[in-house]
Amino acid sequence: MADTVKYLLDESRMPKVWYNIMADLPSPPAPVLHPGTMQPVGPDDLAPLFPMSLIMQEVSTDREIEIPEPVREIYRQWRPSPLFRARRLEKALQTPAKIYYKYEGVSPAGSHKPNTAVPQAFFNREAGIKKITTETGAGQWGSALAFAGALFGIEVKVYMVRVSYNQKPYRRSLMETYGAKCVPSPSAETNSGRAILAQNKDHPGSLGIAISEAVEVAATNDDTKYALGSVLNNVLTHQTVVGQEAMAQLEMAGDYPDIIVGCTGGGSNFAGIAFPFIGAQLRGGKKVRVVAIEPAACPSLTRGRFAYDFGDTAHLTPLVKMHTLGSTFTPPGFHAGGLRYHGMAPLVSHVCNLGLIEAKAYKQVECFSAGVQFARAEGIVPAPEANHAVKGAIDEAVRCKTEGKSKVILFNLCGHGHFDMQAYIDYFGGKLTDQHYDEAELAMALAGLPSVPATV
Ligand SMILES: *Cc1c(COP(=O)(O)O)cnc(C)c1O
Repeated sequence: MADTVKYLLDESRMPKVWYNIMADLPSPPAPVLHPGTMQPVGPDDLAPLFPMSLIMQEVSTDREIEIPEPVREIYRQWRPSPLFRARRLEKALQTPAKIYYKYEGVSPAGSHKPNTAVPQAFFNREAGIKKITTETGAGQWGSALAFAGALFGIEVKVYMVRVSYNQKPYRRSLMETYGAKCVPSPSAETNSGRAILAQNKDHPGSLGIAISEAVEVAATNDDTKYALGSVLNNVLTHQTVVGQEAMAQLEMAGDYPDIIVGCTGGGSNFAGIAFPFIGAQLRGGKKVRVVAIEPAACPSLTRGRFAYDFGDTAHLTPLVKMHTLGSTFTPPGFHAGGLRYHGMAPLVSHVCNLGLIEAKAYKQVECFSAGVQFARAEGIVPAPEANHAVKGAIDEAVRCKTEGKSKVILFNLCGHGHFDMQAYIDYFGGKLTDQHYDEAELAMALAGLPSVPATV
């Protein structure tokens, strides 16, 4: 059998619960702090931004959180997603390794993001919320939430990082097709946006700034809540449908991964595929090597500091302990827009600090080269973000060849690149170059980290 093999679960085996890694961790992550009092925040502090049901998931230590039936009904449109064995890629690489990939590009928005957008919209609707604000970088999250908002009759307003707004008109149009409003950020609509524009009227924007704008609008309007597409515990938990399904599909194939690879922006697709396996390991199961791949131009896990920081640029969010490049850090404009966040999910940062995962940083040209090799073998064009995971998996497979070892590699192909073909045009035109962040700017951003009493 030389061809790509597809493992499909029937719908009855779609997960009934989300897996919460908090239940299995050897130590809990550091508490989230109120920046004024430096005391741990309570559920009520977060109530202006999120419905209580999502806040309770955020602080839950239950291993399993039930997926409501209306959410499962919508998941069924594209879940369980396929798991493929990349036999043609294995052959092209002449590797003894087995390479499996879980494909999340089959969702309506084309990535893993609807796995959390749908439950977030559902729990907001249950709480009677009519409007949600959010931010988006490349537009993947904005379009996922716009899709979910359309299903639940919720008005969605998206602050989109200005460079992406200008570069990616098709993503913007997709959000508008689903009925959402999309505004380039920084905008003149908020205090946070106006403050940035006063310094630089042509500011390209950043995820940190767009978050500030969306949070400000939700915090100052009673009828509006805020949604975040990554980073938060509950978001990572929603994404564990990916890893749970992969586990069942690999069982069909008679395999178990030795190595799991995922790309990391805020950490949600990586956690989604890896956490169920890390949890099984923590409960006495087989040990897996888990590798997080991030862009060298925005390397929070490999170059950031594990410290308390704000989640946004205007410092409207609570303080979270995470690997961070500093909330004022603006990464250069490389193509994997979804990986341009200054911080990393506190839970991913924590498991990294515990030594349960490794992190590597790759440059964008080598990632596109890997993505093109993958497309020519497997037919699927990966999103620029997903190219990082492809590159990580290919490197592991090549290492298996060098070492003459047959290992099982699983990676998350978290989205397709159909809206990102300009990046591929640039790659084939020789216009894609490796971007470097400014060391002085990083040092300055890290020097500006908030000081937190040593007792917490
Ligand atoms: C948003 C996005 C990412 C980065 O976010 P994570 O929370 O790290 O998953 C990566 N890949 C794709 C396709 C995305 O849409």
